[in-house]
Amino acid sequence: MYDAVGNHWWLLTLDRDRVDTLLGESSVGADTVSTYSDRVTTLRDSYSVEETEVESTRAGRRHTYHLTDRRVGSLDRDQKIEISEVADAVFDGLDVEAEAAEKDRDVSTDWYAKMHRKQAEYTLDEFDVTDSYANTLRKNTDDPDIFGCKECSVDWLPVPLPNSVNNAIESAVEGLGDGNEAKHPPFHFYLGEPPTFDLVVKKFSPPKFGGAPGEASYMVQQAQNAYSDSEKARYLGYAAHYLQDMSVPFHSGAVLAQLNYSPSFFDPLNFNPRRDIHYAYEQEINNNIESASYYVGDPFKTDFEDGYPYYVSGVADACKELSDFAGEYGPGIFDAVLNGGKNSPWDWDDGSRSVFEQTHNCMSEAGGYLRGFLYEHEEYNW
Ligand SMILES: [Zn+2]
Repeated sequence: MYDAVGNHWWLLTLDRDRVDTLLGESSVGADTVSTYSDRVTTLRDSYSVEETEVESTRAGRRHTYHLTDRRVGSLDRDQKIEISEVADAVFDGLDVEAEAAEKDRDVSTDWYAKMHRKQAEYTLDEFDVTDSYANTLRKNTDDPDIFGCKECSVDWLPVPLPNSVNNAIESAVEGLGDGNEAKHPPFHFYLGEPPTFDLVVKKFSPPKFGGAPGEASYMVQQAQNAYSDSEKARYLGYAAHYLQDMSVPFHSGAVLAQLNYSPSFFDPLNFNPRRDIHYAYEQEINNNIESASYYVGDPFKTDFEDGYPYYVSGVADACKELSDFAGEYGPGIFDAVLNGGKNSPWDWDDGSRSVFEQTHNCMSEAGGYLRGFLYEHEEYNW
């Protein structure tokens, strides 16, 4: 599906009426709304999708979408541009809707300051370590969102590409951060099986996307080379950050949808990254960490309380495994946020997708890997 229609795949999966509602809310004008709605109808007629359940052994089932007819070809350049116009209008409608809604939900980008530390704190509670060691480790888990990366030479997009393409993608990923303190450079992402990037100027299928495992390994290496315990704790805190990022479905999946490639005739490399959707979701996790809204169920903290440590032989592999797990939820969650509206998380669950069950699963996996990671480095506590 991603290969055929690219990053606007969600135009195929989102509830059909919801697409029209958002188009109607947008500022494009009635005539354009009907033109765009017709484009969606044509698109959905040519590319019909099925949803299959991948896993049903636990709550928060995963779904995957695929085309009913796999033989249909991909969109041509003009179609890509036309579909991008429709997508832009839908996102505009989403913005208008959020602005019109009561401002009872303040979406901010402070996930980095709270969530990373809290996750580390819950996990460190069980370890027999000194307070100063635990505090140093915990406090440093949020720093990578300020400095971005330290090694920064990890090949996060291992495909030979013209610089212009590489730079456009890199700044789109940066655009998912808040542009000032919280940074989301590609080193905070990882997808082991990224979709095809079908750009107007170039089509390529990278073997992986994102540099989190490499950056985390570098930090562990620095911890091993450090002389003092506090230095070791600091670098382990940094490493833990990249591992934690992998448990966020938007750091390990749905990357094309978030980068929102939106070409025009004049700018075939234009991206309009959807930082709002990224943070609407992250903020919701953060808001429900210690006490939860009724629609979330248990607070996410509980996911960290009863897990076993996973065997972690190396932080890079742990990052990859956790990314595989959480990333599969990415597309469904992206769709659910669009469907419910970014300021109404109570509407994100449609009964079958259980965004919050899925998030509980990701948090509990994060706990297992974090514990395993800290156990692996227990020799540093004395
Ligand atoms: Zn991060």
